[in-house]
Amino acid sequence: MSGGERASEDDRTSSGDQKSICPFCGVGCGVRYSEDTGKAVGWRAPVNQRGELCPKGVAAYDVVDHDERLTRPLVRGEDGELVASSWDEALNRVESGVRRISEAHGEEALAFFASSGCTNEENYLLQKLARALGTNNVDNCARLCHSSTVAAMSDRFGTGAMTNTIRDLPEADALLVAGANPAEQHPIIFSSYVAPAVKQGATLIHIDPRENATTRHADHHLALRPGYDIPLLNAMCKVLVEEGLVDDEFVEARVEGFDEFEDWLAGIAIDSAAEKAGVEESALRSAARAYGEADRSAAFTGMGMSQHRCGTANVHALLNLALLGGNVGKRGAGVNPLRGKNNVQGAGDVGALPDVLPGYRAVTDAEAREEVADEWGFEPPAEPGLTEVEMTHRFGDEIRGAYVVGENIAATEPNANRVARELDDLDLLVVQDIFPTETVRHADVVLPASSWAEKAGTVTNTDRQVQRMRPATAPPGEARRDLDIICELGARLTDAGGFEDRAPSEVFAEMTRINPLYAGMSYEGIGEGSQRWPFPEDADSGVEILHRETFGDGSKRATLEPVEDVDPADEVGEDQLVLTTGRILSHFNSGAVTRRSGILTRLRSDDALQIHPDDAAERNVEEGDVVVVENDRGRVEATADVTPAVRPGTAFLTFHFAEPLVNRLTGDELDPVAKIPEYKHSAVSVRVSGTGESDDES
Ligand code: SF4
Repeated sequence: MSGGERASEDDRTSSGDQKSICPFCGVGCGVRYSEDTGKAVGWRAPVNQRGELCPKGVAAYDVVDHDERLTRPLVRGEDGELVASSWDEALNRVESGVRRISEAHGEEALAFFASSGCTNEENYLLQKLARALGTNNVDNCARLCHSSTVAAMSDRFGTGAMTNTIRDLPEADALLVAGANPAEQHPIIFSSYVAPAVKQGATLIHIDPRENATTRHADHHLALRPGYDIPLLNAMCKVLVEEGLVDDEFVEARVEGFDEFEDWLAGIAIDSAAEKAGVEESALRSAARAYGEADRSAAFTGMGMSQHRCGTANVHALLNLALLGGNVGKRGAGVNPLRGKNNVQGAGDVGALPDVLPGYRAVTDAEAREEVADEWGFEPPAEPGLTEVEMTHRFGDEIRGAYVVGENIAATEPNANRVARELDDLDLLVVQDIFPTETVRHADVVLPASSWAEKAGTVTNTDRQVQRMRPATAPPGEARRDLDIICELGARLTDAGGFEDRAPSEVFAEMTRINPLYAGMSYEGIGEGSQRWPFPEDADSGVEILHRETFGDGSKRATLEPVEDVDPADEVGEDQLVLTTGRILSHFNSGAVTRRSGILTRLRSDDALQIHPDDAAERNVEEGDVVVVENDRGRVEATADVTPAVRPGTAFLTFHFAEPLVNRLTGDELDPVAKIPEYKHSAVSVRVSGTGESDDES
């Protein structure tokens, strides 16, 4: 990015400087462009208080002026190829397509994919557009990562977000990390907060089928079988009860249903639960003791917990443990989901979800709809819409048109071969993005959009802090800012007001009027700091520790709830392995951005299949062999990394690559509550490439 491309006065920021927020993970580090180095540097923002950045943050500007940026609108021509068009032609194509579908099939035949990589204002206006058109079919990729966590925490605690803050967690005496690898996935939380706490004596308990960078700092590692968190966590609860480690005072004051729960636990045998979870009973007991004996135990939960058909139940089991230990409503404790993208928390907060309006008020709540209607001038539909994966399952059927903003659904949805076929069944696919992603290849209209470095607006990080992004440059060529594109489409497609050319600050002000979580916040108040929800009038910058006196729904007590075991959907054949997936330090999500970064791909491009030496030997697989990984949904090839870091019977691939595209292997089974797919447990066969009958069929 050159200095000559610096943003003009028209950048719509009030301060005009370029302090922004890292576009990658939900930690929300402050980042700005350095003319000296041509790279990103950190500034002393609310989270990275010393200006520290991880390698992804340092590479944040690396792809902004990449050769592959989409710089002109594209439309699919009669010969089936995407060709450059004017903005007018592209938007006319969208407008006529949406009208045709609405008239022929009704508004419910339209689907809107918002993005947790977009700002609050962009997501807010997109969900408003969907609702103005008459459908609640709007969702974002939070559905795929932590919808189950949010569902369980909202149900039990009344609030589906981190109970604590990144800054108070170092006060923990024990840190329990379940199904996450923050050393690689949330590096600044780990290096600046968790690792120093561990160095000063906090005990780190890591629950993960795989040994990774986080495990290397752990005192206890429970390498469970993927999909068996429930028996493991139930058994840990039983250890607390059996060994007198329950916080009786807390349970007496804040918990309902202890006696019933204790009776139910009596039916759980710790030895057989440990065996089912695939861990040693003694290791489970000592990890449970470490959690229960600590004065303050903080739990972190990640996608290893949430991305299962029983993801909601998994988190319920973790909440039981936190309640028994009295680890709610105090510093250095709590249950803390580590959110993925930089605005995954905000995309949900502002209503880019099919069943709730901004502020998580149900679309079925007539009073909430009326209040929203007072601001919007129209009432949103009362019937909940479809979730993200449900929408893809109905492509070409009930769903005839989709508008995808900043998501790469061809790579990120489960059962990717099926999704690729069904994307082509749509009458209209509009993709708004910055690169020719795997999804763009299926599009009828492509709208070239803005990278994070070209936009202003707000994002909400994993510990509920709303911060401001500021542009350092203008979009390249004819690309436009996402908010401007959504505004123009809104003005063309609906008579509802509020879609005229609007600045992010105006949209933010509108949000604060109808989103109770953001009420009282202001663009100026955030400034170069943050404002955290909930944001009561008497709070300086928002409430840090949730549930101190009461839970989110106003009740004083939360209930302990028995959680029964749920087996994974895929049955694992005798010759098969369980494939699980995850992130690595140098890449992010579908890799559409990080794969194009020279800095990050030079650092590490780890697309290998991790397989245990015993499993490799059984299959004559040697280090570096190209192996075929397949099941009845699809097939990929990868290089074998033979390592004891994965437990026997389990293999691991990252999900950052188009090849190998791991989601060709993942299944459609959904959690019944949150509708999150079971990404973390797929039965697969593994063999050396060239040794199977199906090799010619690929
Ligand atoms: Fe960006 Fe996350 Fe790294 Fe911070 S920890 S620099 S937010 S990727």
